[in-house]
Amino acid sequence: MTSGTRIPDSHPRAASLRVRERMKEAVEAGLVHPTGLIAHGRGEAFDYLLGERTPPEAKAAVAEAARRIRAARQPVLSLNGNTVALAAAACVEVQRAWPALRLEVNLFHRSEERVARLIAAVEAAGAPRGSVLGRHPDFRIPRLASDRARCAKAGIGASDVVLVPLEDGDRAQALKAMGKTVLTVDLNPLSRTALAADVTVVDELSRALPNIREEVLRLRGKPANCRRVIERFDNRKNRAAVLRAIDARLGALARKR
Ligand code: ATP
Repeated sequence: MTSGTRIPDSHPRAASLRVRERMKEAVEAGLVHPTGLIAHGRGEAFDYLLGERTPPEAKAAVAEAARRIRAARQPVLSLNGNTVALAAAACVEVQRAWPALRLEVNLFHRSEERVARLIAAVEAAGAPRGSVLGRHPDFRIPRLASDRARCAKAGIGASDVVLVPLEDGDRAQALKAMGKTVLTVDLNPLSRTALAADVTVVDELSRALPNIREEVLRLRGKPANCRRVIERFDNRKNRAAVLRAIDARLGALARKR
């Protein structure tokens, strides 16, 4: 992909603008659906409210997500266009840290061409050739009308734990209805996915994935006694704490300016 607009380093929002450029190029390359830009903008808005930094509550959720991945029989990381465009290499790094984790492309606006392009992008980011699922769906998620119902039996179909970053709520709910454990990374603590998930990491994806990787690596050397801790984590309380942190931050800003 070629960069169109030159963004000066001195621009106060240079990092954010560069990500926008990358997203625009990913649309042009057929990786991201145009509506993915709208989802990205919603994420940016919530990141602004968080102060564009990882809230402390996200650390507890990351630790919990890593424990769930570790305790899973078959964990899957579900990839859509935005996830690949923003963080393909970081997804591959998480998979490397926990080799049982399968990567699977699963799309709302599905076309065989886009699936193939996204798989190629993940392979270009380091995934072994042929390891990314999604090209030959042979399973349907029940009670999900859209194309995202189409997935791999060997991946999402048979999984017990699914990490679904940057998703809309229907799929999280349908996966929950199948009895799966749903983990998500979502900047919006109010989204339906954030509400439906068992573990909601309220953080920006590119910041959250290296933290998940680090936690998974840390657990690799430890005995598998995660269950007791899993029972103690309360996703609702964790999300509520993020909302209170946003509220406190906005209150402080309102008093200051
Ligand atoms: P829901 O149906 O769950 O209420 P939605 O309709 O907002 O959510 P989408 O439009 O698919 O669902 O948006 C995906 C979600 O991803 C949004 O909640 C958005 O805040 C979040 N998001 C977008 N970009 C990022 C990012 N870089 N990191 C983390 N979350 C993000």
